[in-house]
Amino acid sequence: MALRMSTLFLRTLREDPADAELPGHKLLVRAGYIRRAAPGIYTWLPLGLKVRAKVEAIIREEMDAIGAQEVQFPALLPREPYEASNRWSEYGPNLFRLKDRRDNDMLLGPTHEEMFCLTVKDMYSSYKDLPLSLYQIQNKYRDEARPRAGILRGREFIMKDSYSFDINEAGLQKSYDAHRDAYTKIFNRLGFEYVIVQADAGAMGGSASEEFLAVSDLGEDTFVRDDAGYAANVEAVEVPQAPAVEITAGPAHVENTPDTPTIETLVAALNANHPREDGRSWTAADTLKNVLVMLAHPDGTREPLAVGLPGDREVDPKRLETKVAPAEIEPFEESDFKRYPMLAKGYIGPGVLGEEKASGIRYLLDPSVAEGSAWVTGADEHGKHVLDLVYGRDFTADGTVQAAQLREGDLGPNGRALTLARGVEMGHIFQLGTKYAEALGLKVLDENGKLVTVTMGSYGVGVTRAVGMIAEDNLDDIGLVWPREVAPADVHVVATGKDDAVFLKAAEIVNELEAQGLDVLYDDRLKVSPGVKFKDAELIGVPTILVLGKGLADGTVELKDRRSGERRDVPVEGAVTEVLREVKGEVAGA
Ligand code: ATP
Ligand code: MG
Repeated sequence: MALRMSTLFLRTLREDPADAELPGHKLLVRAGYIRRAAPGIYTWLPLGLKVRAKVEAIIREEMDAIGAQEVQFPALLPREPYEASNRWSEYGPNLFRLKDRRDNDMLLGPTHEEMFCLTVKDMYSSYKDLPLSLYQIQNKYRDEARPRAGILRGREFIMKDSYSFDINEAGLQKSYDAHRDAYTKIFNRLGFEYVIVQADAGAMGGSASEEFLAVSDLGEDTFVRDDAGYAANVEAVEVPQAPAVEITAGPAHVENTPDTPTIETLVAALNANHPREDGRSWTAADTLKNVLVMLAHPDGTREPLAVGLPGDREVDPKRLETKVAPAEIEPFEESDFKRYPMLAKGYIGPGVLGEEKASGIRYLLDPSVAEGSAWVTGADEHGKHVLDLVYGRDFTADGTVQAAQLREGDLGPNGRALTLARGVEMGHIFQLGTKYAEALGLKVLDENGKLVTVTMGSYGVGVTRAVGMIAEDNLDDIGLVWPREVAPADVHVVATGKDDAVFLKAAEIVNELEAQGLDVLYDDRLKVSPGVKFKDAELIGVPTILVLGKGLADGTVELKDRRSGERRDVPVEGAVTEVLREVKGEVAGA
């Protein structure tokens, strides 16, 4: 049935909503697709549901095509399975936890590995039952620290999540590849410009993992690529360890460097008071900066960590966090310094850092610090630095960590220069292996009658995030411009004026269009001016707009293309055919 604007539950807004940041999000609210119910929590209105249903339909088609079967698990879940997998605590503050009336711990599912695993365990017991892939399209709950950008990062959102079950590694690889192909098709159909990047497996555990990132400056994810096809999320990049160099520095020496608690002040003081023999001036890259953070473990304990890296680099908290997961990173506070009196703030050096040193604080170095290289770094006394301190000769560390902010031109794992760009994570595929199956005891009998642990994969697509991202990618100054495959309707028929004949003809055309299988949005409002109707049509963003008005007296109607703005008069008798040509033509040629 056509959506009739005279009765449609819709109120378009001329003003931007105060709580929306991104252009697409503002338009989704203004055009009546979604409304905010609470931070990160959204209500879906009729037009929004239409778009969402189309995105879901594409996903279903591609999942069904690889033989995955749709199921639906509850979102409200008991604690025990998540306790068994350790995620009740590992998930940290992102997990919505609650109690039932009997004081049992419950949670709102952030993702469903445990539940799928247990259900398969309940129902299946033999290798003959495998391989198996199951999926659902369902609400997920995560108490995100920074719900932003509307539905791009919600606290309640919809995910398509699937899980594969195989008897061995080779089977898992097959299931993984099938999902990878399906995702490629899904994101092609959704019209994203995306890259597939190597990902960090993060809180999910497991090994091989890739993300589908929509390339966009709006993205919170930074990824790198080289010119040989390597692409990875910065969290997953392993830059090579700088090879050892020959020691050229003389013995280390401590110098007075008063009032130099920052790299900037230190470099200025070095150049002013400690010029190098070879005349080169000091730069931040000659200094070794030691950054302290606190790791907050899921069990509530805190543990200090020191990261040593060149002074011209910063620690990338996201990269570091993936290395210390499930711990989260918190700042090292003044009160923490009080507990470690050997740390001279602003002048901290490797003299006191390390598990075997005075502080006992674990000390990890950036891989760009080469054995044999000489550094200026803190001398662990206020107002003093040590020069010519050679790594390997004069100081050591407890290991290395891949946590520095990457820069354009840094060498990647292939030894090639990396370029950086931003993206929004639309999908994520993981080879979980046996982590969950082991924790929850999912075993089946193999061909020889031996019990073997099932190996799993897990795969997610952000459904509501996809709607949000399509909106961000498809808009202009006056409104949304939906790609045909996901538009809330194929055509928006607008009847203007007060002439009954116009409305009668419009209703007739709407019926014909529907009979041809098209989804129609019909502006049949009687007391609304043509100007308002046109503005609404532009805002709502259905790709083809058919206007019936004064021209009807001369036998013509107007056909508008929302994206190009092109408009042309067509004879009213040919209107349906013309609309069909626009709609089908573009779909076929897409
Ligand atoms: P992010 O890094 O953006 O927080 P994630 O890695 O935590 O995402 P996954 O656990 O891999 O997300 O979830 C699978 C998919 O679900 C993601 O690729 C993304 O498309 C979607 N998704 C995750 N979190 C959210 C959210 N808060 N709001 C909307 N969609 C989300
Ligand atoms: Mg992810």
